[in-house]
Parts: sequence; structure tokens; C-alpha cells
Amino acid sequence: MLRPVCFDVRKYGSDWMKNEVVPPIIKGEQTVVLSITEAFAGSDVAGLRTTAVLDASGENYIVNGTKKWITGGMYADWFVTAVRTGKPGAGGISMMLIPRSDAVQTKIMKSKYSSSAGTAYVTYENCVVPKKYLIGTENKGFQIIMSNFNHERWMITVVCIARVRMCTEETFKWSMQRKVFGKPLIEQPVIREKLAQMFAGVETCTQMLYDITYNMVSMGSQGAEVGARIALLKYQATRMNHLVADNAVQVFGGRGVTQTGMGRVVEVFSRMYKIPAVYGGSEEIMADLAVRTAIKGYPKQARL
Ligand SMILES: Cc1cc2nc3c(=O)[nH]c(=O)nc-3n(C[C@H](O)[C@H](O)[C@H](O)COP(=O)(O)OP(=O)(O)OC[C@H]3O[C@@H](n4cnc5c(N)ncnc54)[C@H](O)[C@@H]3O)c2cc1C
Repeated sequence: MLRPVCFDVRKYGSDWMKNEVVPPIIKGEQTVVLSITEAFAGSDVAGLRTTAVLDASGENYIVNGTKKWITGGMYADWFVTAVRTGKPGAGGISMMLIPRSDAVQTKIMKSKYSSSAGTAYVTYENCVVPKKYLIGTENKGFQIIMSNFNHERWMITVVCIARVRMCTEETFKWSMQRKVFGKPLIEQPVIREKLAQMFAGVETCTQMLYDITYNMVSMGSQGAEVGARIALLKYQATRMNHLVADNAVQVFGGRGVTQTGMGRVVEVFSRMYKIPAVYGGSEEIMADLAVRTAIKGYPKQARL
């Protein structure tokens, strides 16, 4: 799985990583995953506990710790791993490119996410990592993590909007063809109102996505303002997923909760739509980031 993970290595990695590690990943011969979250550090990334300590020679780090919900972890050849090399908090975190070895164990985590995602619990036990595998500068890993998030959140939103558009289309088609009390469902004002909510949600998020994408391409994808706007877009998209899933299941009735037949797309969507509201920065964290950024830019003298 490529995902934006490769962005870390391509942007912040050393030349040998770009020349030797990246090409097989781009060609699809090897896979890389992002290994940040821990049982102790989810939303609060700065609290992570996996340690990387230099050995007596000063040439190798010894990595110990665990990671949770690592997408693609079961198949990964490389783990872009967040580790603690310094003081507590964000200022003591580094990023490392760690190859799979006997000292890196992966165990499947069963979740409602696709079983083909290979979601893993990862254990690093006295894992020897040469210094040259450090990505960027020691204790500057938090900035790398944050810069990657803008791309990852943008990508998650694109997928959300594509899925929700499909679910809305299915619901529209069903309302047109299903006859209840002698006439198609679409002739019921209550159903049309539900569809209006869905259309408006999809269109609003699509327009926000176009606008932000245009700005990312023309003015760059980093910085507080673009980060806040992407966070707001992800928040809006996952809230909209919630509304669309709820409305779609109602309009499909029994078929909306049946895994086969005409409601199958809606049934899958209603089971899965919560996942992007959690990963890549949860809904609450996205909302908080956007509003905190607005507060920072608020003119001190502003009054009503
Ligand atoms: C399917 C899946 C795939 C994933 N893939 C990866 C991966 O590839 N790599 C990786 O590193 N991680 C991955 N994750 C982990 C994901 O990023 C975390 O689950 C996420 O950051 C939330 O952390 P948590 O689950 O520990 O929740 P917690 O941080 O414990 O939060 C629990 C709840 O409290 C809320 N909350 C937390 N802090 C606040 C606050 N300050 N204010 C208000 N509410 C708050 C959260 O929004 C959440 O709803 C994945 C997760 C899932 C479910």
C-alpha cells in the first residue's frame, strides 16, 4: 500500500532511501505503512511511548514498543514508525524507516474495516535500527507526522465523497422505482426532503473539496490555514456520511439492512461509514483543530 506514507520518505528521507527504498514501493513490489498509533496514544500522538535508544556504539537505535490499528501492517515490508528519542511530548518524537524482521512482529486485528486491509497490532522487541534509517532530524518527527496528515486527510475525504455519492445515487434510483401505497416513493414529500438533504450534503462537500484542492495545487499543501480547512472538510464529510447513511437505510427499509439484493450498497455503507470519522484524525479532533486555528488568527481588538 502506497498511501501518502511514501510522502514522508520522499520529502524528508535521505538520498539512499529515495534511491533504494522508494522505487520498489512505487513499482508495487514492496509495501510501506504508517505506524504511529498506540494503545496509549491515539488522538494524542504526542503521548506515544515506543522508544528508540542509541546503543553503546552510538551507531544503532534499539526500538521497543507496540503500535495499534496499523493499516496494511500484516503485509508491510517497511514501517514508517514514530518513536520517542527524547523528552516527553511532541519535541521528543522521531520518525524511522524500519524494515520487517524477526524483531518486528505483526498480529491481525479484526475490525469492521476490510479484512484485506491487513490491520495489525505491531510489536517491536529490541529491534536494532541503524542510525541511517532515521527520517529527517532526531526529535523533529512530530512536524513530519503533521505535514503528512494534510495529504492523508484530503485522500480520506475524496474516498468518503465518492462512496456517499454512490449511496445517494442508489437511494434516488430506489425512490423512483419502489411503489408503496400505489405510487413511487419519490412522490412522498418526506422522501424528497430526505433526498434533498443527501444531494445538498454531497454537493457541498464536493465543492469544498474542489476549492481546497485548487488552493493546495496553487498555493501548497502545508501551513496552518490549509491544515484547518482540510480538517473542516474531513469533519463535514464524515458528518455528511452519517446523515446519508441514516437517510439511505430509511428509504430502503428492510433492504437497507440486508446484505444481498437491491439494498446491498447501502447496507455496506451504513456499516462502514463511521471508520473515516475515526482514523486520520477523528471528527472531534478535526473540529477542534479548525476552531483553534480560527481563534489563533482572531484579531485581538475585534469586537461586535
Ligand atoms: C480502521 C483503522 C485504521 C487505522 N489505520 C492507522 C494506520 O495506518 N496508522 C496509524 O498510525 N493509525 C491508524 N489508525 C488509528 C487511528 O488514527 C486512531 O484510531 C485515531 O487517531 C483515534 O485514536 P483512538 O482510537 O486511540 O481514540 P482516542 O484518542 O482514545 O479518542 C477516543 C474518542 O475521544 C475523542 N477525543 C479524543 N481527544 C479529544 C479531545 N481533545 N476533545 C474531544 N474529543 C476527543 C476522539 O475523537 C474519539 O472519538 C487506524 C484506526 C482505524 C480504526
